[in-house]
Amino acid sequence: MFSEKEIQKIRKQFPILKEKIYSNPLIYIDNAATTQKPLQVIQAIQKYYFTTNANVHRGLHYLSQKATNQVENTRKKIQKFIHAKYSSEIIFTKGTTESINLVASSISYLIKKGDEILISCIEHHSNIVPWQIICKKKGAILKIIPIYNNGYLKLRDFEFLISKKTKIVSISHISNVLGIINPIKYIIKKSHEYGALVLIDGAQSPSNLHLNMQDLNTDFYVFSAHKMYGPTGIGILYGKKKILETICPYQFGGEMIKNVSFEKTTYSDLPFKFEAGTPNIEGIIVWSSAIDFIEKIGLSKIQSYKKELLSYAIQRLSTIDGIQLYGEIKDFSKKSSIISFNLNKLHCFDVGSILDRLGITVRTGHLCAQPLMNFFKVSGMIRASFSVYNTFKEIDYLFEGLLKAKKLLLKY
Ligand SMILES: *Cc1c(COP(=O)(O)O)cnc(C)c1O
Repeated sequence: MFSEKEIQKIRKQFPILKEKIYSNPLIYIDNAATTQKPLQVIQAIQKYYFTTNANVHRGLHYLSQKATNQVENTRKKIQKFIHAKYSSEIIFTKGTTESINLVASSISYLIKKGDEILISCIEHHSNIVPWQIICKKKGAILKIIPIYNNGYLKLRDFEFLISKKTKIVSISHISNVLGIINPIKYIIKKSHEYGALVLIDGAQSPSNLHLNMQDLNTDFYVFSAHKMYGPTGIGILYGKKKILETICPYQFGGEMIKNVSFEKTTYSDLPFKFEAGTPNIEGIIVWSSAIDFIEKIGLSKIQSYKKELLSYAIQRLSTIDGIQLYGEIKDFSKKSSIISFNLNKLHCFDVGSILDRLGITVRTGHLCAQPLMNFFKVSGMIRASFSVYNTFKEIDYLFEGLLKAKKLLLKY
């Protein structure tokens, strides 16, 4: 729990929260899509261009060295943040989506006709489509772990589906729709018993959970900076060193090579083997300030405050007549601060438009998880997702906004 003073201090660090939307105060509760950026991140962007801008790893000159050092410092900071064994296990990418595509492409040589790839019913499209494409190319089969109505994976079915034919299991750590935290440690252990590789889509995790790659023992773990107070266009692939060393590069060109002649090219060592071309230097360097922001407040504190917001939101919203809340709504130990719902039989876009007019930013639609929408037999949902700068009062506004939407829309 933060005191009123503490929360105001946190909110002051996010200049955008002073914006007015249609002359209403901005209530930003679309944090599962992207979080807002604290002042120290915004200022770090300017500082980078004022003092450091140069290409990395290429030049001998002072600025190039400075930029290179800062990039490598972020790599080390992320290594520490997720407790990876080596900093060379951290590969910079554009984000979660690119990281999953990288792995799908780089391990595709391991996948043969009749092999299986295992994902789950709750996955984000980013963790469905790349595997579908590989399956199509290779004649492999995509298998899906089903879920219960509360959103939990059916682990019995997982145990039944996993076999020696399974080459990779790719599962989200936290569902971007239901906020459910999946039992990935068990899934990783079980998958390894069958010799399958495991990728964890951790897009929703770093601003919610303490991450420890060595303890999880996953082969790959991916996330983006922009959902943890950092900039867009930058993310990572974590991969076990031994595995990254053996699998194929993803893109080819500058920076990822050791030697090039027209006859033959040899590749760089990790992590550069997977970092072709000039990276998002600004994004990498600035990301470091976002991690500082989290660490200064403390992830555990952020986590428990967000749980209180979630608990209050569920408590308030569930009193609305005709609301349908999806997934687990009682036990918050396995849930992050995301709640998705529908209001009576109203279309989520109609409700969303009215909330928007009131300055309340929620996500509406299929939430990049159409198979999950099909499971719940809806075309879309309304999602509220909370962050460290949200308040109980904002949840009251959401509650009132929903009542208003109901009143207006049910007239027709
Ligand atoms: C946001 C999200 C993604 C996609 O992340 P990008 O940053 O858009 O690449 C994938 N999976 C989950 C669970 C997400 O929440």
